[in-house]
This record gives sequence, C-alpha cells and structure tokens, in this order.
Amino acid sequence: MGRHLIVISVDAMVWEDLAYAEELPALGRILKEGAVVKHVRTIYPSLTHPVHATVLTGCAAGKTGIVNNTFFEAGAEPRPWFNSLRDIRVKTILHAAHEKGLTTCACRWPLTARGEDVIDYLVPEVMGLDMEGHEDDPASVYRMLGTQECLMDLIREALSRYGWKNEHPAYDAFETFCACGIIRRYQPDLMLIHSGYVDGERHRTGLFTEHVRAAVKQSDAWIGEILDAVRDAGIEKDTDIVVMSDHGQLAITRVICPNVFLRDKGLIRTDEQGKLLDWDAYVAGAGLSGQVYLSRPEDPQLKARVFQILNDMAEEGIYGFSEVLTEEEMKKRYGLYGDFSFCIETDGFTSFSEDLDRPAVRPLDTSDYRFGHATHGHMPEKGPQPPFLGMGPSFRKGAVLTEGSILDHAPTFAKILGLQLPDADGVPMLQILG
Ligand SMILES: [Zn+2]
Repeated sequence: MGRHLIVISVDAMVWEDLAYAEELPALGRILKEGAVVKHVRTIYPSLTHPVHATVLTGCAAGKTGIVNNTFFEAGAEPRPWFNSLRDIRVKTILHAAHEKGLTTCACRWPLTARGEDVIDYLVPEVMGLDMEGHEDDPASVYRMLGTQECLMDLIREALSRYGWKNEHPAYDAFETFCACGIIRRYQPDLMLIHSGYVDGERHRTGLFTEHVRAAVKQSDAWIGEILDAVRDAGIEKDTDIVVMSDHGQLAITRVICPNVFLRDKGLIRTDEQGKLLDWDAYVAGAGLSGQVYLSRPEDPQLKARVFQILNDMAEEGIYGFSEVLTEEEMKKRYGLYGDFSFCIETDGFTSFSEDLDRPAVRPLDTSDYRFGHATHGHMPEKGPQPPFLGMGPSFRKGAVLTEGSILDHAPTFAKILGLQLPDADGVPMLQILG
C-alpha cells in the first residue's frame, strides 16, 4: 500500500492557541508524536484564498494570480471569489499528484471548485453567490462545482444533517462528515481539508477569547474524528497528518472607507445618489490592507499624483493606513504583484471598506468578516503567527523549528509524496522530515 498525506488547515489558528494543546486529545497527540514549526511566515495579503493558493503551489500571490479573496470590479458588491482551481496560474500539488497517478481529494479547500479533472474526490467550498437561486436544491450546486456522482450520497446525507448555509460550526461539521466518509471508502493518497470555525470566532469575538478557545477545542474534536477514520480505514501506519493554518489576525477598533477620501480629492466621481460614475484611483479592500487600482496605470502623471496623495494621507496619521507600497516594493518584499499600482497597509487597528458612503470612519461591524473585532490581510510579519504540525512516517518525531515559511509547505508535501513542483519558490522543510 502506498503512502497517504492528509493536510488539515485550521483557518486562523495561531501558535498561542496550542498553549493548552496537551489537554486536547488530537492536537496534543500530534504535538507529542510529531514535528512542529511554531511560527510560519505567511504571504501578503494574509487572506484565506490567496494563502491557500500558496499552500497548493509554493508560490506567493503575484505568481499564483490569487491576489485577493475576490476579483476586482470597482463599485460592485458582492463580488465573486477566486475559488476555482483554474484561477491559479501555476502548477499545484493536486496537478502533480494526479499526473503521477495518485488519487486526490479536496474537502472545502479554497480554490478547488471545478477541479474535478485533477481531484478524484471533490467537496468544493461553496460561496454565497454559488448558492444564490439554488437554495431549494443545494446538492445541485455541489454537482455543478465538480462533486463526483460517487460522493453525492455523502453530500445529501451531510446536507440533511447540517444544512446548506455557510455558517460555523455546522459548515465545518459538514466537511468533517464528508472527509471521514471519503477516508473510510476510498483512502485517497493526498487529501486536503479546510475548516473555518476558529477564524469565524476570532472575527466575531476578538483575538483571544473564550469563544476562540472553544472553537480550537471543537476543531480538535474534528481532527480526532479524522484520525479515527484513518485508523478504521487501516492506513494509520502509512499516513502522514499535517495540521496547519493560513494566517493570524490582528485586533481592530474601526473601519475606514478610503474611497470616500479619494472622492473628496477628485479621484472618484459619483452621482447624486452616491453611485459610482467613474474613477482615476480606487481602493479594493483586502481586510487590513488595500490594493489601489488606477484607471490609467501607464500614465506617469496620474501615478505620481496618486502616490503623493496617498503618502500625504499616510503621514497625516488619521486615515487608517501608515504605509504605501509601490509596485516595486510589493514585489520585492512579498512577491505580490497584479493590476494594481499601490498597496496601503493598516495602522494596526483599522480595517478597510470600499464603501463610497459617509460616515467614512465607522465602528466595528460583525456582519462581515472584514470588519469584525479582529481580522487579517495585513503584512505577514505582524501579530500572532500560524503553526505547522506534522505526524506520521515522514516526520521526525520531536523536531521543533521556531520559524518557517508558508512557501515551503507545498514543496514539503511534494517531497513526502515523491512529486515535483518546478514552479515553487519554497523548499522542502528537511529539518522536520525523517
Ligand atoms: Zn483564513
């Protein structure tokens, strides 16, 4: 029997969450029997979909093309998310595994929708816009996004148990149910699972709260269910388990709408109802950072003018951002590039909205992940950092690294499975491999 790798991404879990891990049966066992990287440097912007593309490829956001959670379109809300496997511009670990004849599974892993040509067992992440108009027949949405016929009985059973809404913890219980079913039936060689309960509770209640701690405990129970399924499938000795996270969060106190100020400065024009007419510069929100698009990015005068305005605003200290990055700086420091010309970075307690309506400075709003008590999208060196845990035949028991890079995850997975990722910029973490 071949070797299996199961990667479980616990969204927004940080190393500090594991202070109590010895009390937790699954995470406690993995920490005791496995290898650890305590603080993993993620990418910029530290947003879920861009980071999960990086974990699939070993490349930063410029190269994957997944530069934000959603596609850019000025004035449009809500916008479709980057969520299809075809949106990623470089070779993924799923492609590499499929080429070598390994069987693959993605269970609610961002950016795997419509990837059924390389993913043998696909339970896609379903975004709000996908479900619109299909609420009466949610199973049809899974089929439309690539779920194979052989899994539809599992999907229907999960829908009847947990419902179709993207709400935690039901959504996460749904995917755990599907993942365990797939492990027991098919034992895929490579399996990717993503759960968002810890992230959701951090946004909703703050950085370190009793609710976050309860969500970590519940996530441990789901990981335990997956370990049980591995044991039941008889593949325990041949299976590597990775538990990782995509980013931390920062506590915030307010939301600012930078486009309101750009309109005041004549760079955005709206009608009397406040509807967008046209623009020279427009900030696309990325949580704790903003990506500044220009209508004529090749116009040096416009570019210089907007750069001056943004820098003056950053210096003023009241607009929520403390740093303006040029294209060269974004690329050099973070491997981030796209159709935008600048990036603005939070002052540490402000999140950004694209709204054109006043008030331009607002209190927190838990209706949207971007404006809760804590959020992300910030520069990756700031705040609590995500960990990486590995347990199984490929990992060196007891190995501990203080720091790592999320660019190294995909190359490490490739090394374990004997695959090649020629586009990857990271390297395998040989110090924690046996
Ligand atoms: Zn995330």
